[in-house]
Amino acid sequence: MPIRTLAPEVVCRIAAGEVVERPASVVKELVENSLDAGATQIILEVVGAGTQSIRVVDNGSGISPAEVELAFQRHATSKIACEADIESIRTLGFRGEALASIAAVSQVDLISRPAAEIAGSFIRVSNGRVVEKRSRGCSPGTAVTVRRLFANVPARLKFLRSPATENSRMANLVSQYALAFPEVRFNMVIDGHLNLRTPGSGNLKDVVAELYGLDIANAMLDLGQEPHKGESISVTGYIGTAGVARASRGYMSFFVNRRWVQSRMLSYAVEEAYRGFLMGDRYPVAVVNLWLTSDEVDVNVHPAKTEVRFRNDRAIFGAVQKAVRTLLVGQAPIPEFRPASSAPTLSLRAEPTKIGFQQAPSSAPIPLAMDLQTPKLPILRVLGQVGNSYVVAEAPDGMYLIDQHAAHERIQLEKLERQRQAQGIETQGLLEPLTVELTPQQEESMRTLGPVLADYGFKLEPFGPRSYLLRSIPAVLKGESATEMLREMLNGSGGKSLEDLKREIVVSLACHSAVKAGQALSPPEMSELVRQLEITALPRTCPHGRPTMIHLSSRELEKEFGRR
Ligand code: ADP
Ligand code: MG
Repeated sequence: MPIRTLAPEVVCRIAAGEVVERPASVVKELVENSLDAGATQIILEVVGAGTQSIRVVDNGSGISPAEVELAFQRHATSKIACEADIESIRTLGFRGEALASIAAVSQVDLISRPAAEIAGSFIRVSNGRVVEKRSRGCSPGTAVTVRRLFANVPARLKFLRSPATENSRMANLVSQYALAFPEVRFNMVIDGHLNLRTPGSGNLKDVVAELYGLDIANAMLDLGQEPHKGESISVTGYIGTAGVARASRGYMSFFVNRRWVQSRMLSYAVEEAYRGFLMGDRYPVAVVNLWLTSDEVDVNVHPAKTEVRFRNDRAIFGAVQKAVRTLLVGQAPIPEFRPASSAPTLSLRAEPTKIGFQQAPSSAPIPLAMDLQTPKLPILRVLGQVGNSYVVAEAPDGMYLIDQHAAHERIQLEKLERQRQAQGIETQGLLEPLTVELTPQQEESMRTLGPVLADYGFKLEPFGPRSYLLRSIPAVLKGESATEMLREMLNGSGGKSLEDLKREIVVSLACHSAVKAGQALSPPEMSELVRQLEITALPRTCPHGRPTMIHLSSRELEKEFGRR
């Protein structure tokens, strides 16, 4: 084929792929347009995971009748005018690509009216072509309806995840914008269910309460809400106390000049600041706003605009870490424990201690993954407990240090697996039901995961907006660990097969019902733990594949003491 310049429709369809990757990208671009138009109220309606329709209605500045068609042209924008403007972008959009890209892969109806105009206009653009345009009465603002998304791009349709996953991505996205713009009232309805509603009070804490529930909102510490005038970097927002830490990073949000960004560097800065405050695999809740002068940040990195580039990464990292750390330290003295205590064997491997047993070749029998070849345990005699976390025992072949949590997890896992195969997991009704408040994203997952969880004893009843009553729980759990487990499952369930989910539920049940590290055990309790561990099929690993015990053989003891 000869070389030729591609026709504009072809260029547009190619470029659309970068901007409109999935239904959530459409939601993002439309919400950004509404926010750029100064809307104080944004209503979203999603049907059929966004592939049937996505509708966004705002009360913003509107588009004048003379410009509605132009708005759909590629590189047509009202937000920048010349090259120099790229250096000082204050709006969310600026590339003039979104409407053109969306309309290239769907059918878009746009109705818009600036308040000063008498009549509004209607335009329909289908797969890149204007098919209808006329004047029409409407209230001030803009309504955009996107139908049949990707109907002309079958490859894209196939690549989409389950409706629940796509819905939860859209819900998460709107949640993020709601956090970034507390003065805007957001309303989101998915398949007729109200998913999210924020009051638009301008108070970030109100949005946090709406999304994460009152318990978390009340446990938030204030980083300050006004950016410092005259400084090139300021940090504002809220961070959660250690008491409301979560099992995933999903509760950390970052905004740069009100743009939602996903950045490993920023989450790392926050996690570092919590060092010593959080145990093991816990992550903080945080809503962090960064306010930067335009020379500090470049937003023109990728068409989807969720990435930004900082002029000075280290300065940003330092500013965020310091702001969070100062607030935490001012709030509470640093507890004595060190995070390493929650992953004993890993840290032993990383930093050899003086005893040196982790380097001895005989550390090999400690399996890091499920290993059916592992020999069963010798008879153990309990001697005591170290740090309320490890049981010390002896056997004819030396000394054993048993991680009480990991060991109990193993016991519970096998017990639950047996129950599951026999009569099913035992459940217990609650005399006083527990209320559980879910985030919009979690509520979305509930719709698919709810029935599976019900099979395992979590009986939930709707109770007001995003509130549920927990009426029964798996018998192995206590109330508060049940709600914690429920939230964790709802956070990380997207796109898994039913079998994987069931397995995950059982592993999670084992984990949440096991004794914790840091819990003092009486000698009979320790003996019982060890006795039950002895009769498990795989006593040496926990359900996550970590070791349940460390063995220091008699030989090694003799060697270390110079007897050999
Ligand atoms: P960009 O946002 O990068 O400028 P878009 O393709 O998203 O590009 O939008 C093109 C133009 O259409 C915008 O610059 C804006 O002038 C106008 N526009 C789009 N959506 C709205 C809206 N909801 N309210 C007012 N104007 C809008
Ligand atoms: Mg835009």
